[in-house]
Amino acid sequence: MAKKANNGDTEHCCFCGRGSDEVALLITGDHAAICSDCIQIAYESARSVLNPEEHIRSNGKIKGKSKLYKPAEIKAFLDEYVIGQDEAKKCLSVAVYNHYKRINVKEDLIEKSNILIVGPTGTGKTLLARTIARMLNVPFAIVDATVLTEAGYVGEDVESILTRLLQDADYNVELAEKGIVFIDEIDKIARKSDNPSITRDVSGEGVQQALLKILEGSIVNVPPQGGRKHPEQKMIAVNTENILFICGGAFEGIERNIAQRLNTQVIGYGAREKHNTIDTDNLIQYVAPQDLRSYGLIPEIIGRMPILTHLDPLDRPTLLAILTRPKNALIKQYEEIFALDGIKLEIEPGVLEFIVDTAIEYKLGARGLRTICEAIMMDEMFDAPTRKEKTVVITLDMAKQRVAHFAGKMMGAGKE
Ligand code: ADP
Repeated sequence: MAKKANNGDTEHCCFCGRGSDEVALLITGDHAAICSDCIQIAYESARSVLNPEEHIRSNGKIKGKSKLYKPAEIKAFLDEYVIGQDEAKKCLSVAVYNHYKRINVKEDLIEKSNILIVGPTGTGKTLLARTIARMLNVPFAIVDATVLTEAGYVGEDVESILTRLLQDADYNVELAEKGIVFIDEIDKIARKSDNPSITRDVSGEGVQQALLKILEGSIVNVPPQGGRKHPEQKMIAVNTENILFICGGAFEGIERNIAQRLNTQVIGYGAREKHNTIDTDNLIQYVAPQDLRSYGLIPEIIGRMPILTHLDPLDRPTLLAILTRPKNALIKQYEEIFALDGIKLEIEPGVLEFIVDTAIEYKLGARGLRTICEAIMMDEMFDAPTRKEKTVVITLDMAKQRVAHFAGKMMGAGKE
């Protein structure tokens, strides 16, 4: 326990009782002391009382009622940054619209709907969630479900998810309570065994149970510094009722569960018609709650993520578009990097296609595009700023040579 602060004690915070070695900063006066966490909390309380009409925070995040964007507006914004994935974009746009309508207007009537995105790794799950948060200008946190464990085990407690959100909201609880949390790799906490009696698997059902409490909307005591390193820290109560949770996972191998279900369904009336329309190359598009259950998510968790959508694998035209079309597309970024030195970047025809084909060949996906571009452009980025020329040309031969140079490395990383 922290030493209780006595009058005149300048070694401990007079509010939370923690000592100078337990807090980031302890400000001392003649007869009292206060820590930086308590200053923050006091500041926020004072501000909300003294200036309740204030809606805009200093860093621009919206406080109080946020602007209600229509689904089509949200999708149009997503279109600027995310290529393809139309179904997921539509689904997310409607879900987010309804969520903020619920917060702003009819909280009791409309039930909260968290979202689950199933899709191969590197197809845009995080990008979608991040882009939505950017548009809405609300606090946003990304957490990885793989680090979560049941209380008492090595790893992070589930509550630490909210620590990140609080941090992004500069510890403004009211603001954090309207934020968005993206929980990545939710599939990794699926129950490993079909036998539910073998529970207490550290990264399995126990974590799902703990997560459930947060997803369904409750008041959670959050350690402001996260983790268990600061056992004396004063918890902050956060109501998760209005926090939107977007969960994502690759659910590797779930196609087998989907195929099995579809096969079972197609035996019987109307079987032939159904069978003809199934696109066996992309079974993820048929993902349904039953598949998540057979994959190892507990029904209660599935029930708390009623909006289920999928992402398609990225094909060649999509990867090509990812290189050049988004507002912050990779190629635009390189053009900008060179432009800042007054240099024009020219890329010969065929180079972009070569980059995409390499990413496909080495199974690097969209994430690999950057690695390949870096490999190709590194020498120019190094030399060009000191050279006199005002133009840098990337030829196909150059690209091939440099990628061949890096191929050994990439073989180890991706090629099977
Ligand atoms: P994950 O599905 O694993 O969360 P990410 O969203 O992190 O994948 O995607 C990794 C990177 O690949 C992104 O930062 C982005 O640059 C690129 N990317 C992936 N999918 C798309 C897409 N559909 N449109 C534009 N860029 C994408």
